[in-house]
Amino acid sequence: MSNIAGPPLHEAERGCPKGGDEVLKDYKYPAGALHIIQTLKDQGFKCFLVGGSVRDILLGRTPTEWDLTTDAPPETVSRLFHKVVPTGIEFGTVTVLVEGGTFEVTTFRRDEQYTDGRHPSQVKYSKNLEEDLSRRDFTVNAMAYDPTSYEFVDKFGGQKDLSEKLIRTVGRAVDRFSEDGLRSLRACRFAAQLTFEIEEKTFSAIGQTLQITKKVAVERVHDELVKMLSSSKPSIGIEYMRRSGLLNLFIPELLLGVGVEQPAQFHKWDVYYHALYSCDAAPLDNLPVRLAALLHDIAKPPCKVENTFYGHDQKGREMAEDILRRLRFSNEHIEKVGLLVANHMFNYQSSWSDAAVRRFIRRVGLDNLPDLFALRMADARGMEREIDSGYLEELQLRIDKILAEENALHIKDLKVDGGDVMRELSIPAGPRVGKVLEALLEKVLDDPALNEREKLLEMIRKHG
Ligand code: ATP
Ligand code: MG
Repeated sequence: MSNIAGPPLHEAERGCPKGGDEVLKDYKYPAGALHIIQTLKDQGFKCFLVGGSVRDILLGRTPTEWDLTTDAPPETVSRLFHKVVPTGIEFGTVTVLVEGGTFEVTTFRRDEQYTDGRHPSQVKYSKNLEEDLSRRDFTVNAMAYDPTSYEFVDKFGGQKDLSEKLIRTVGRAVDRFSEDGLRSLRACRFAAQLTFEIEEKTFSAIGQTLQITKKVAVERVHDELVKMLSSSKPSIGIEYMRRSGLLNLFIPELLLGVGVEQPAQFHKWDVYYHALYSCDAAPLDNLPVRLAALLHDIAKPPCKVENTFYGHDQKGREMAEDILRRLRFSNEHIEKVGLLVANHMFNYQSSWSDAAVRRFIRRVGLDNLPDLFALRMADARGMEREIDSGYLEELQLRIDKILAEENALHIKDLKVDGGDVMRELSIPAGPRVGKVLEALLEKVLDDPALNEREKLLEMIRKHG
């Protein structure tokens, strides 16, 4: 049953077309992963693909990372392969570089005594795969597969939850979120990435463990938010954050937009939902534009006077920058998003003079124009209005024309001047000097390589 009310965020498509075993068997695994698994097995150890890669293959997606789990201790793994980097050795993880790929190999673990809601105070190795799977966060992340023997281990109903599109904790949700407060945010992130729902008990545990999540290091929160905002539908994750109380912990400013109405001739949604849908509509691989889309109207609630929001672009820049600074985004991202938010209200008209277009280019910065236009498109899509991008195309054409003119060479750009002409030809100032320079410019426009002082002086002497 859906626990999301309000506008529909996604359609749950149910059912898996092919049996999971068959999909796993048919997949073409990277040679490096097969090599690592076979090498460890030849030494009498077990080794499985685990977590995201198994989940993604079952979903028909291409895995981005390959995590392996084994009962061999990290020292043994390090010894068996030539290039091994101890990337997370305190948690039993080493990265093996083989056959053109990198593979994270982690020794079966059993986590004990989470005292601070952040890190297990002790990590113990285990000989038991099931124990390792039981410490993992969600059922869909707790499946393991050995592609050399086709052994598929799914002790917690991961495949069933995948087919029902559900994020569900392994074990009792409140316990698992109390152990590590980041997991509740991860639940929202996976819901957004996979367009899944969060199972009800799992969802209600988020609200019960907010005090634990509050203690999580902000850098870890940052990383999860980036993954959520780079997913296919950030709105799903942010809406789960709002309904569970997580949004109030991390971006309470967004909540001010809930129920704030906007002029109906433009807007279908309140300020909050408009921010979410604009974010969904921004290009998935452009984090600054996604962030700017989410935050572009962040200052509308405090700037609202009747049905106007005067000054929300400038105030929005301040608020967006504060939020991003607090969430440890890079200075580069903070500046870029601030600039986009501050300029998102530009109102191009065909009547703009060339000087106005030039001022606009200077204010926004040439390099930022494509992102500002992408934000404008996302903003329009977030209103669910008929999108008329004709005016953006017209503005782009005018910008191109102005740039072409500015880049074009003028007489003053020649590497010789009137004085050179007069000296080389021993002539006084007069119309002939200008004619010679114009003739040189014609030649240089045909072949810009000619614009060198020595070449031009030579041409004056020959043809002047
Ligand atoms: P992604 O596609 O984002 O890499 P993933 O499932 O691989 O997704 P990771 O964060 O790379 O996610 O973690 C790898 C695996 O480690 C997860 O699938 C899960 O089994 C386990 N895991 C990661 N973080 C936690 C956590 N905080 N608590 C419990 N298990 C975790
Ligand atoms: Mg991963």
